[in-house]
Amino acid sequence: MIISPKIRGFICTTAHPDGCEAHVRQQVEYVQKQPPIEDCPKKVLVIGSSTGYGLASRIVPAFAGQADTLGVFFERQPNDRKSGSSGWYNSAAFESMAKDQGLYARSINGDAFSKEIKDQAIKEIKESMGQVDCVIYSLASPRRQDPDTGDIYKSCLKPIGTTYTQKTVNTDKAEVEEITIEPANEDEINQTVKVMGGEDWELWMNALSEAGVLAPSITTLAYSYIGPELTWSVYKDGTIGRAKIHLEESCRRINEKLASLEGRAFVSVNKAVVTQASSAIPVVPLYISVLFKKMKEEGIHEDCIEQIHRLFSDRLMSDPKLDSSNRIRIDDWEMREDIQQSVADTWENINTENLKELSDFEGYQKDFLKLFGFGLDGVNYDAETDPLREIDLVD
Ligand code: NAD
Repeated sequence: MIISPKIRGFICTTAHPDGCEAHVRQQVEYVQKQPPIEDCPKKVLVIGSSTGYGLASRIVPAFAGQADTLGVFFERQPNDRKSGSSGWYNSAAFESMAKDQGLYARSINGDAFSKEIKDQAIKEIKESMGQVDCVIYSLASPRRQDPDTGDIYKSCLKPIGTTYTQKTVNTDKAEVEEITIEPANEDEINQTVKVMGGEDWELWMNALSEAGVLAPSITTLAYSYIGPELTWSVYKDGTIGRAKIHLEESCRRINEKLASLEGRAFVSVNKAVVTQASSAIPVVPLYISVLFKKMKEEGIHEDCIEQIHRLFSDRLMSDPKLDSSNRIRIDDWEMREDIQQSVADTWENINTENLKELSDFEGYQKDFLKLFGFGLDGVNYDAETDPLREIDLVD
């Protein structure tokens, strides 16, 4: 089958297996070139492990610390007529590279919000890993089914209290436009908290703890974002921001519960990167394009893998350097005053005519295609490729 990108707004409905493999290999090679991480976790459960920050959080302990990893994700399996999702191909490539290094690497494909998937993970940890010493929670989902009531909640990306108008980029047309988003109502806020807040992270940690599969000194992490003032209405102070406040409250509760194991729970505030989740947020793709240009000029640009490597090596395994709200801040370079001042100045002037000159929109588009395995060097996109790739799924 010849697989080409089919883009619909902020989604690409196809993915290239060889391109995804090349993308995973680039990340693995980056980690292999860095010094090994001292005291890296050795048995890691990653929830949301197939793309973005979760995939990087699986690659780093495996290739910088020879960790065994169990991954949980929700991805589309390929068949001989239709390509799988990129997360499927990423996971297949990761497993094969990890196994070549003699590492345990298995995966669970299903709804992480459900009780069944939690039970499946616990059973597999007992049978194959004994216990885990690190749990990464990196889900980004538009919906969640409550495991007790069966009710379905949907998240939304809206401001709270006031209407928000801001510049954004129409990624199909490469045009800077204005977007206006009406504020969320109370129900939309609550539903977003249900999906993207910390309730499910707590349920995971409770279930793992009760099953006795958390090792002493367990570390658990979930990810958040703050970003610049120009996005606050739709992010930090919007519906998703409310969910992240809930995540931080959950972190405090998890920390208390882990005290008997001398365990630690952290929320890490990460930098803005191009992922399937971030490309769906209004305004953020334009902000990322402007930010990347400046960070690249300053030689401090990072993608998921560089961020997570720095998180594990400079924060998690040494001094976490928590902020006043007890969060790890690996967004420190993004939030540097000179970087943010430059972004704010550019933001004032950016328009469709100067988009490519004032921002790294081209880099944004390339990164977006890479998420689906397109535009990778060394991959022949005109050649037939087999869409079927095996994953060692836990059954
Ligand atoms: P992503 O879209 O790349 O990854 C989402 C992951 O969740 C995938 O592995 C997917 O399979 C999995 N998933 C979704 N629904 C699932 C379900 N029901 N069951 C099992 N797996 C499911 O997202 P990302 O951008 O890497 O985001 C991960 C976390 O990082 C989020 O909490 C996000 O807020 C945070 N974060 C992202 C950015 C950014 O710029 N992308 C910045 C800071 C923090």
